[in-house]
Amino acid sequence: MTVADNLARLRARIDAAAVAAGRDPSGVRLLVATKTQDAPTVLEALDAGVDLIGENRVQELVAKAPALADRVAAGTAAVHMIGHLQRNKVNQVLATATCVESVDSADVAAALATRCAAAGRTLDMMVQVNVSGEETKAGVAPDAAAAFACTVAAMPGLRLTGFMTIGAHSDDEALVRAGFARLRAVRDEVLASGRPGTADARELSMGMTGDLELAIAEGATIVRVGTAVFGPR
Ligand SMILES: *Cc1c(COP(=O)(O)O)cnc(C)c1O
Repeated sequence: MTVADNLARLRARIDAAAVAAGRDPSGVRLLVATKTQDAPTVLEALDAGVDLIGENRVQELVAKAPALADRVAAGTAAVHMIGHLQRNKVNQVLATATCVESVDSADVAAALATRCAAAGRTLDMMVQVNVSGEETKAGVAPDAAAAFACTVAAMPGLRLTGFMTIGAHSDDEALVRAGFARLRAVRDEVLASGRPGTADARELSMGMTGDLELAIAEGATIVRVGTAVFGPR
């Protein structure tokens, strides 16, 4: 199986899940998670039609950035930061990522905002929510997520585009689905709040290789997939 074959199967899987949920398949974007994949492999995916990739580690993001720079500049590829971000890495991320999906601390948000405002630019960002409450996972607690999102949405230099989560590590489909439904409820609450900077907070980045059908059933607008594209890591 080539990356292109895997992508074709994956897109069919996504489309089928959308149709089964009564949704328009064009409302579900594929983000290809490229952690541990080298730059030529990432370019192979882009050449097969991928237009959105996600990196977990700043070091990998920076290492692959030169290979992607032309396409990012041309607007044919976007790169999202989907892993935990530390305050001292903010500059490196700003140089390469088009969106940070993993904002879960006011400190990091403020650092991003300050630098963006100083540079006269706006950074797209999402709030990561820990819907499962698993201690190993990053993200704001669901109860605190709407208030946190409203706080960061009001910061200059940041544009809140939505919410991201990693589903519960469980075989219990009802439990996993409930977590995704919780993210949707947070999104709906923030959109309905009318608070400054919240009008664009539409995205729900949720669902990976093992649980994307459940996420799409609960309204995912972006699914983040690695294993189904590149094989096991
Ligand atoms: C690795 C990763 C994915 C993709 O996971 P797969 O199970 O390989 O599809 C999605 N989101 C995040 C944050 C990841 O780290």
